[in-house]
Amino acid sequence: MVLREISSVHVPPGQGAACTVQTGQFLRVVDVEGGQVADFNAWTLPDYEEQFWSGRTRILEGAHLSTGNRLWSSPNMEVMFTITADTVSRTDSPLGGTSHDLIWARCSSQLWQIRGVSNAPNCQDNLTRAIEPHGLTVHKVHDAFNIFMKTGIDADDRLFEEPAESVAGDYLELRAEKDCLVAVSSCPGRGNRFSQWKHRPLLLQVLAEG
Ligand SMILES: [Zn+2]
Repeated sequence: MVLREISSVHVPPGQGAACTVQTGQFLRVVDVEGGQVADFNAWTLPDYEEQFWSGRTRILEGAHLSTGNRLWSSPNMEVMFTITADTVSRTDSPLGGTSHDLIWARCSSQLWQIRGVSNAPNCQDNLTRAIEPHGLTVHKVHDAFNIFMKTGIDADDRLFEEPAESVAGDYLELRAEKDCLVAVSSCPGRGNRFSQWKHRPLLLQVLAEG
């Protein structure tokens, strides 16, 4: 299958961006420089009535996603996307985490505040700014599919995150099963392969067959 690029949107380091994807088109979320977590939200068009459901997708597909998994919507459990490619090579690590997390939630200024960091850049604000031009507010931001984020649950039943194992040019490719608006945040948090608050750009590519 040959895919041609329809459009692309750059996600600046530590910020957010949005794009639309039509049914049957493909979205590639590209880690341009490597090691950068991408927080992904999605809503069905034209009315944004359905949105990505992290919890339900976790129940049906697993705690980490890869090729073949589907992304489900709330509230009506429609399939929004099917993952069609994943170029990230899995590497062993001391804690044994897995890439493309569905356990964690988006970071927010309030989360960083209770961790002792004031006015921190965060995914909730990034996603909000990305969807405001579409008339959507923070109330439509939901828990993310954390692409490239490497996580797990330890022997003490605590969530952990490890440095992202994606390298420059790695991507996750999703086929749209609905017309969707997508927003992605270049997460400024700790899950990246760099020191806290140092982040890298992402690229959103929309492609079609032929
Ligand atoms: Zn984040």
